[in-house]
Amino acid sequence: MIELQCSLIEAQKLLQHQATHDPLTGILNRRAIMEALSKEWARFTRTKNNFTLGFVDIDHFKKINDLFGHSIGDDTLKEICESFTSSLREYDVFGRYGGEEFLIISPQTTLPDHLSIYERKREEIAKKSIHKENRTHPLSVSIGVASSHEASSLDELVSLADTRLYAAKESGRNAVVYT
Ligand code: GH3
Ligand code: MG
Ligand code: MG
Repeated sequence: MIELQCSLIEAQKLLQHQATHDPLTGILNRRAIMEALSKEWARFTRTKNNFTLGFVDIDHFKKINDLFGHSIGDDTLKEICESFTSSLREYDVFGRYGGEEFLIISPQTTLPDHLSIYERKREEIAKKSIHKENRTHPLSVSIGVASSHEASSLDELVSLADTRLYAAKESGRNAVVYT
């Protein structure tokens, strides 16, 4: 009986993990990161403890797939995710929003103080490149950052970060935009 119960609990844990994590990168999937974001927004409206939201998008990712193939594209996604995961704080939440787009939720932070983290990460990724046979391609990300106190609803906050991500792309990519 006990053994059966233990294996049921294990199976349940596995199912829960599969329902909330992205199979390729192992980070939170879209549903889970959006749920975390709703919770953080609810906490913010109650406590007024500010948080920041980063919208990250890999630059020219389609070109990476086209030049090197889908499998190297997948490896690149994994590498970038590992790079973010390893440098975020324990209470930051990182998830895959879709394709080559990611969200970072940083509780208890205000924008100017927190920006250096994004800048450092952007710089670090821009030092990487993809090599295969005699081809090389630079790697970079664009990031739009917004702070909870700048928005009056969660939708507005997401759209602000998204607009800034778009501005980072327009500015030539490999950039962090926060105003
Ligand atoms: P931009 O700098 O404007 O963001 O250009 P981009 O090429 O990164 O953006 P675009 O939206 O044109 O292309 C995104 C590409 O990401 C297209 C899609 O095939 C690829 N992609 C999405 N998910 C995956 C994945 O799981 N694996 C691989 N290898 N590619 C993926
Ligand atoms: Mg994109
Ligand atoms: Mg992209």
